[in-house]
Amino acid sequence: MFLYEDEQEINEKKSKTVSLDECYNKEWVVLLNKQELLKNFQCLLCEQIANNAMELTCAEHEDQKDVLSVGEQCLFKYLKTHDNQCPIGNHGRCDYVKAKVVRRCVDELMVICPRQFVRQLDTKTSCQQREGDVSTTMITETTNCCTFKEYIKEMRAHLEKSCPLKPLECKFKMFGCDDIFFDFNLEQHLQSQMNKHLNLVLAHNNEIRQDLSRCHQNEIKQTVNLMILL
Ligand SMILES: [Zn+2]
Ligand SMILES: [Zn+2]
Ligand SMILES: [Zn+2]
Ligand SMILES: [Zn+2]
Repeated sequence: MFLYEDEQEINEKKSKTVSLDECYNKEWVVLLNKQELLKNFQCLLCEQIANNAMELTCAEHEDQKDVLSVGEQCLFKYLKTHDNQCPIGNHGRCDYVKAKVVRRCVDELMVICPRQFVRQLDTKTSCQQREGDVSTTMITETTNCCTFKEYIKEMRAHLEKSCPLKPLECKFKMFGCDDIFFDFNLEQHLQSQMNKHLNLVLAHNNEIRQDLSRCHQNEIKQTVNLMILL
């Protein structure tokens, strides 16, 4: 109906990630909600669940029975690239307001953690790709890392604060470890990468040694810091 240039690509990306500003992935929301109910909250443009829903109120659609909901980001992107033309009906000026009722309903849809959802998708895909060649440890590792099950409106705070799937940086990053992992496998990383971390710190220490003649004082301070870290 409303075609994007790379619709295929966008849809593929949508099934992998859940952003806080884009419309919500339908497959994710439908896990805990009735399909029929969700139809009322669908974004006209991307056909996912409208995030920050806007309602089209142009005079041209006055006799429309259903609320014409569009996700805020989808609508503004569309208006920007289509010279403010209404996404439906081919007329020049598009009028819209915040769809307060739809927003409130969407806010109170129950969902699981979106990061957990993406992980489950990934596990599914890799299971299919490897055709049963997935070890049981990998499956237990990726299931139910985050048990969040709440209203959509609670999601942002969860992702920022309490989600165990929040990506973490290694505390040896300053020495050159660029690995990214999660709260639940932090210990595992520190244990299994002990040698790597030690080597990184030693290499770092060596560099400092070479600077010894140039700034003796500084070297002493940093070595003391390193010893505290180890
Ligand atoms: Zn949308
Ligand atoms: Zn219109
Ligand atoms: Zn989570
Ligand atoms: Zn590390």
